[in-house]
Amino acid sequence: MIVLDLEWNRSYDKTPLNEILQIGAVRVGRLGGPVLDSFNVYIRPTVHKRFDPGAKALPELNVSRTSQLRFPAAMKRFSEWCGPERTFALWGGDDFEVLGENCKYWGLPVPEAEKVYDLQTAFSHMLGTDQQIALWRAADYCRIPDTFTFHNALNDALYTSILGGWITPEALAWKPVPKEERLALKRFSRRPFPCPPRQEVGPFPDFSDGLNAKTSRKPVCPLCGAACSVAQWNIPAFPEPGVPQRCYSPFSCPEHGCFLCQLTLTPDPDGAWSGYQTVPVVTPELAKEYAAVLRGGKVHACKSRRRRRRRRRTSAVAK
Ligand SMILES: [Zn+2]
Repeated sequence: MIVLDLEWNRSYDKTPLNEILQIGAVRVGRLGGPVLDSFNVYIRPTVHKRFDPGAKALPELNVSRTSQLRFPAAMKRFSEWCGPERTFALWGGDDFEVLGENCKYWGLPVPEAEKVYDLQTAFSHMLGTDQQIALWRAADYCRIPDTFTFHNALNDALYTSILGGWITPEALAWKPVPKEERLALKRFSRRPFPCPPRQEVGPFPDFSDGLNAKTSRKPVCPLCGAACSVAQWNIPAFPEPGVPQRCYSPFSCPEHGCFLCQLTLTPDPDGAWSGYQTVPVVTPELAKEYAAVLRGGKVHACKSRRRRRRRRRTSAVAK
């Protein structure tokens, strides 16, 4: 296993590249095991004109600036040093992506990994927090002596590999709930409530008529029955033909907070759409479905037919 750490200059200009300034790594037989070998290169930056505050604070920025090594040569050395090893461990989830980003920029093959362990996420999970814990804090927490300066890629890789000894296999295997799902679970009440009766809707001549229809867009608060309304739907971007389409919209009752309206529309053999609208309790499973539509779907803004009527009314008053 290779424990990897990078230092880079964050992109601030038109070139969207977090330019790597140092690659540091150690090889271990197992997490927390003895260090078998180490790798370190300082890379001369050539892409951006200035350094971001993080890069400016790097203890060995000058070594990178005066280095004779450019990224392609440094990466070649790193790949050779890695050999056939395809398991990596990192503090945080970004470094491997940034490595790939730099390879793409220089037209080099993107390194392949069989497994990339994010020890930072695993460590946070063990401590029961979803906050990201800085490497120096974690080292401090585990009473690891601060013999080496932090924010040097090789030293940070070394600290990460030592911290690996604290991490249980269970924490390593744990997968955090994706952000959209976490937000969905936070936003909607998970307190059980009686589901308001299904509101049958349709048939409609086509899918968007079903989304725009007044009957589809009038959910009621499941706690007090207040009539609420929906102005847009999150819908699947590439609906599978012939199967029920699940569309979602958050709505609020002024008194009881935010709920999720779910509209299910199914095409019949003649091409007409009908279905039902409900306000279900947002369970983790539903949050997952909703998050998937948020991520991969699109937004349908409902078109109201009220304007025509209103205009008529205004002209009546004008007379
Ligand atoms: Zn209410």
